[in-house]
Amino acid sequence: MNPEQIVASLKALMEEGQTPGKVLTDAADLDNYGKDWTKIYPPKPMAIVLPKTTEQVQALVRFANENQVALVPSGGRTGLSAGAVAANGEVVVAFDNMNQILDFSASDRTVKCQAGVVTEQLQNYAEDNDLYYPVDFASAGSSQLGGNLSTNAGGIKVIRYGMSRDWVAGLKVVTGKGDILDLNKDLAKNNTGYDLRHLFIGAEGTLGFITEATMKLSRKPDNLTVLVLGLNDLTNTMDVLQTFQKQIDLTAYEFFSHQAMGHVLAHGQVQAPFETEAPYYALLEFEAVSDQVMDDAMALFEQCVENGWVLDGVISQSETQAQNLWQLRERISESIAPRTPYKNDISVVVSKVPGFLQEIDAVVTEHYPDFEIIWFGHIGDGNLHLNILKPEDMAKEDFFEKCQQVNKWVFEIVERYQGSVSAEHGVGMTKKPYLEYTRSAAEIAYLRGIKQVFDPKGVMNPGKIFD
Ligand SMILES: Cc1cc2nc3c(=O)[nH]c(=O)nc-3n(C[C@H](O)[C@H](O)[C@H](O)COP(=O)(O)OP(=O)(O)OC[C@H]3O[C@@H](n4cnc5c(N)ncnc54)[C@H](O)[C@@H]3O)c2cc1C
Repeated sequence: MNPEQIVASLKALMEEGQTPGKVLTDAADLDNYGKDWTKIYPPKPMAIVLPKTTEQVQALVRFANENQVALVPSGGRTGLSAGAVAANGEVVVAFDNMNQILDFSASDRTVKCQAGVVTEQLQNYAEDNDLYYPVDFASAGSSQLGGNLSTNAGGIKVIRYGMSRDWVAGLKVVTGKGDILDLNKDLAKNNTGYDLRHLFIGAEGTLGFITEATMKLSRKPDNLTVLVLGLNDLTNTMDVLQTFQKQIDLTAYEFFSHQAMGHVLAHGQVQAPFETEAPYYALLEFEAVSDQVMDDAMALFEQCVENGWVLDGVISQSETQAQNLWQLRERISESIAPRTPYKNDISVVVSKVPGFLQEIDAVVTEHYPDFEIIWFGHIGDGNLHLNILKPEDMAKEDFFEKCQQVNKWVFEIVERYQGSVSAEHGVGMTKKPYLEYTRSAAEIAYLRGIKQVFDPKGVMNPGKIFD
């Protein structure tokens, strides 16, 4: 079939049933739906399909198998590894029109969502029902549940609540072969062999489509309070973490460098937390459920100052103030975006963070003294974001090429520390060449075997994770 015939067939498929889907082929739509946040690979999809039902998705997959058409699942396109990019004439399947909340059970504390439900929509729905969906990050206003689960998104609350995976009670998927599977039936206990649900979480759309997910909710946190500290030295991040964790259950522990904060402040609308300048900052969040917890937090803060780890600090006195302090961390990505950052999203076990970070910082600074390095991340769970900013006068292609050269050294350190080349953003295309720094050859062979079972004709998101 040629592209015109494929598009005509897709249109016919989407017209079947009572709720027709859509097919888009305008240049602006192809450009918009063919890329994610990475913007490294020029988008070149053949067409965009917006289905309305799981059955339409199944019909699409069956058609793709019969005609060897490559499909790229697309959520909110906030991905940072080019997992949702269609650069080779693929058909993009976007879930914007499958964005309904289908069911809610107060007694099970679960909510059944279509894949296109936006993360913030789920958070707000939980809130309206006096409950809490704890997976959160700066792109929650645009990212979709299907994308969150396919990347197993983490974010700012992992230290207390875990990753997206931990909140999935059940999934409806269409496999790459075109079968509809209802995985786990939303059960809390179901030990009946392999849990296929977890294979689809983090699969980046390479095994099939997630069309529905039943998500668990939690009790609402009480009086979330934020403490921002200026730290004397990088290793102090771990001293402070250990000191607080002995007494208080933190709901977040983030860090950012002085340079990162500089970009946020220059971007506007956010104020410095205090006058004292520090090389690094930590943001702690906890539930101040009683005066006693608040007193404990103040005593721990003083202890950290006495030990010479902390130079200054501020604690929120209201919800608004807490939200304002969060902006210092949440606005980093957006404030450096105009500088075309090359992003690395690496992790190690928490205890190894300071040595790991110092080694990588030294390597990058030694080889690229002219590049501006921005460090921030979810340091409480061992996840660091290394952002290298493009010098204004350097061409994008030259810059990315230089960054790829430095990757080798960075990932050798990651491998030596038994860390991960992608903590939470996924592999997609950007980290595909580096998979073996974290996964062994035997593991990768098993991954390929699993792909073969669910998608024997290779129609699902080809070229992502591995070739
Ligand atoms: C400012 C900013 C901050 C961010 N902060 C964080 C953070 O703190 N933590 C974090 O983990 N991530 C973060 N991200 C990355 C991104 O938001 C997450 O990876 C998110 O989960 C992607 O969701 P999405 O809907 O945008 O997915 P997309 O980018 O559209 O797709 C991501 C992957 O999922 C696949 N996919 C999408 N929908 C489906 C489906 N229905 N079925 C099967 N496969 C599907 C795609 O093919 C692709 O491989 C951030 C991004 C930005 C821009």
